Amino acid sequence: MKTYSLVINGRSVPSDRHFDVKNPANGGIVGSAPKATKEQLELAIEAAEAAFPAWRDLTSETRAEYCMKVADRMQEAAEELAQLITREQGKPLNGLGSRWEVGGAIAWARYTASLDLPVEVLQDTNQGKVEMHRKPLGVVGSITPWNFPVLIAIWHVIPAIRSGNTVVIKPSPYTPLSTIRLVELMSEVLPQGVVNCVTGEDFIGAEMSAHPKIRKIVFTGSCATGQKIMQSAAQTMKRLTLELGGNDAGIVLPDVDPKQIAEGLFWGAFINGGQTCAALKRLYVHDEVYDAVCRELVDYARNIKVGDGLLDDTNLGPIQNRQQFEKVVALVDDAKKVGGKVLLGGAVEKKGPGNFFPVTLIADMNNGQRLVDEEQFGPVLPIIRYTDVEEVIQRANDNPNGLGGSVWSRDIEKAKQIASRMECGSVWINKHGAIQPNAPFGGVKSSGFGVEFAKEGLAEYTDIQVIFS
Ligand code: NAD
Repeated sequence: MKTYSLVINGRSVPSDRHFDVKNPANGGIVGSAPKATKEQLELAIEAAEAAFPAWRDLTSETRAEYCMKVADRMQEAAEELAQLITREQGKPLNGLGSRWEVGGAIAWARYTASLDLPVEVLQDTNQGKVEMHRKPLGVVGSITPWNFPVLIAIWHVIPAIRSGNTVVIKPSPYTPLSTIRLVELMSEVLPQGVVNCVTGEDFIGAEMSAHPKIRKIVFTGSCATGQKIMQSAAQTMKRLTLELGGNDAGIVLPDVDPKQIAEGLFWGAFINGGQTCAALKRLYVHDEVYDAVCRELVDYARNIKVGDGLLDDTNLGPIQNRQQFEKVVALVDDAKKVGGKVLLGGAVEKKGPGNFFPVTLIADMNNGQRLVDEEQFGPVLPIIRYTDVEEVIQRANDNPNGLGGSVWSRDIEKAKQIASRMECGSVWINKHGAIQPNAPFGGVKSSGFGVEFAKEGLAEYTDIQVIFS
């Protein structure tokens, strides 16, 4: 079993204390991760602070080249990263799994490297010239969750450094190893201290969000933790990007071909075993096609193989950790109690050390029931019948979250009209969750604020300075 180190100022820094990282498919130990102390966090922040002026003063082109070097180094180590993600996170190597995650991370890094925030001339007249400059903030603290450890790390780190900041990243204690390895790779090509990685308990994240030398926190995780971060960040007026939980609704109109949309609905909901922020988490289906959509979904889903992600024929892995597993079990039990009709799955098939939960479809659910109202973040989809489009828009919006949503119809214009009335940051037509690096992504309402990706996402790592001359 390998013992990992922190990455501070471009070097591997061993720790006296460690914790085991478990493989969710079999309970085996994947590696031993360092438990950083408060002093080690200080060292990481100091390293990032010391690296900032020289990094900020590089030309924009030079920083872009460095980001491309990070992408190249990741490309060389892609298979190693994918294997590590599967072993600590659980997702399959194949399909929309860890190889796809690493490929996406590399593509995102390259695209983000190509973005720029040049000076904008707002006015150039006899009355004077007005220029808008975008200035990096300083040290950015990145706090990541356990569902896409490498992809989300790249979403945070690359725009931060591309725009001239330096970074301290703290991954989830459930999946720290692939992030440590990622930052080791980055350190091989970046100047010392530009990206540092500190792993350990949740208190490290809390310390970061209160730390006076960290100028911004970019956080992806639960709403509850996002609220705590927002509270402690207030003391130092930190900039925040909060990418929080989602409970995305999908609305299926009566004009669909149920067979044709079944695959898209399935993967919209079950990508990464449903452990995806912008997955389809509540499916509203019109009465006229309700039975057919349920039947086609079951037909598609029953061929999906849940198993150890390292096996070639696995389509979906286990739930990443026991706590999340117990939450999914409790929500499914509650759904059964309140009258949900289990169409597929619904109970653990055989007890063992792995956190395996079967693909589960539960029909005849409604708002006001836990599985509909709460984010399940697991391989379970509640299906809800509706008859009136106006009323279903209200039901879809009747949730504190507002990350994504989808509308399924042959009539794209009608679908777009409904989309515009959904209270969420992204809406997809006839698909769900298809994010891309050139389109801003973020939540509204309790799903957070600020966006990632595209120029708008890059700009979040800067302050505006206007120069009047
Ligand atoms: P979590 O909030 O439990 O943990 C996320 C991170 O916060 C971890 O690194 C954790 O150690 C750290 N943390 C815990 N307590 C902290 C504190 N007091 N201060 C600072 N940091 C602290 O979330 P999770 O269970 O790892 O992730 C699942 C959640 O993330 C789901 O709700 C999901 O929807 C959400 N998510 C959102 C997006 C998005 O883009 N909106 C993407 C992925 C996941």
